[in-house]
Amino acid sequence: MSKTGETPRFRRVVLKLSGEALAGSRGFGIDLDVVKHIAEEIREIHELGVEVAVVVGGGNIWRGVQAQKAGMDRATADYMGMLATIINAMSLQDALEKLGVDTRVQTAIEMREIAEPYIRRRAIRHLEKGRVVIFAGGTGNPYFSTDTAAALRAAEIEAEVILMAKRVDGVYDSDPLSNPSARRFTHLTYRDVINRGLGVMDSTAASLCMDNGIPIVVFNLTKKGNVKRAVLGEEIGTQVGGSSMPDDERARAEQKMKEIVEATRREFAQIRTGRANPALLDRITVEAYGDVYPINQLASISVPEARLLVIQPWDRKVLPNIERAILKSDLALTPVSDGSVLRITIPTLTEERRRDLVKIAKKVAEDMRVAVRNTRREAIDALRAKQKNKEITEDDLKKGQEDIQKLTDKFIAEIDALLEAKEAEIMEV
Ligand code: UDP
Repeated sequence: MSKTGETPRFRRVVLKLSGEALAGSRGFGIDLDVVKHIAEEIREIHELGVEVAVVVGGGNIWRGVQAQKAGMDRATADYMGMLATIINAMSLQDALEKLGVDTRVQTAIEMREIAEPYIRRRAIRHLEKGRVVIFAGGTGNPYFSTDTAAALRAAEIEAEVILMAKRVDGVYDSDPLSNPSARRFTHLTYRDVINRGLGVMDSTAASLCMDNGIPIVVFNLTKKGNVKRAVLGEEIGTQVGGSSMPDDERARAEQKMKEIVEATRREFAQIRTGRANPALLDRITVEAYGDVYPINQLASISVPEARLLVIQPWDRKVLPNIERAILKSDLALTPVSDGSVLRITIPTLTEERRRDLVKIAKKVAEDMRVAVRNTRREAIDALRAKQKNKEITEDDLKKGQEDIQKLTDKFIAEIDALLEAKEAEIMEV
């Protein structure tokens, strides 16, 4: 609990400020009134007891990529960009300290006269002591961005979230400034961010967040009180990743459906056709060395011809044991031994037997389709419950339902394709 009696959702956060955020409406340089506003916002969450680390950009002063386009060496231009972030960091430190908030700047490029070098453990100590830490100098490497620096530092200091400050209310399906009917996403997956180029952060940064499970909240910094709303866990902006996501349900459903398709494959492999298939022997167990083994632990099984299985035991002595086990099984197959290998010729099937087998295969496929549909129902029920609890919005529910329907269609089509192939195999003369 904080001095104000409000309970923040996050204990430690990384706030990512782009250089442009400090530039205000001018779009370049530093607007001190804007910096003051940002410092006030930071003070507000600091007073809630939240540990705040800030990563600042430098795009208001210098952008490496643009300078490269104008003919500069990329690495040099990037180092200039990193220096720009240090200038920004210093202005923010000054504004925070004016408000009485203890602040340390740590830079990825050493500059001991004006800031501490970046030392992870020391940064964490500062945070624990209630100091705001500003990470400047990006990652210290050219070809990276300060978004990547934010992801990297968040992972290193084990921040619970990255708050991505923007000048719009979140992530939209099209530009909200030019398209009045643009829709804001309330939740997105990391994959959405990486694959759809939604302008949240670059793909290097997003991958790092995804791999380390760091959620991101994209929100509008220009609205007063928004930083606080974000740390209190209010639904503002767009959330990327994190728990209580419709994605969790989707991922769970996808996993289950995959398993069902795998089970279909296994069941089909057990249906014997005129074609030789090592899986036919999967269920055979052999008594040997005073124990019982699955056949494939005692022998290799190969298919040199379409109707021929050859079983080669690792140890000749167990050949008779394997032969006995096959004869004893309900497979009605007759192995022929030459003393070192067993050969099994698969008999051709009668027309009637083929029809029966097709019926069996169809029944398997139908059971599996039902299992996929049950998985869909469970996933959608879970999403409905989440929406009722206000964990997700109506929009999330709708999108989640659509996604789960798509998965259902995809996996049912896979089962249908497996069935079709199996039927063709059974009917093959
Ligand atoms: N930069 C870099 N490596 C880093 C971070 C930043 O080379 O790890 C350079 C790069 O040239 C970039 C500039 O610093 O264009 C400013 O950073 P960025 O564009 O990420 O700032 P923002 O867009 O957040 O203002």
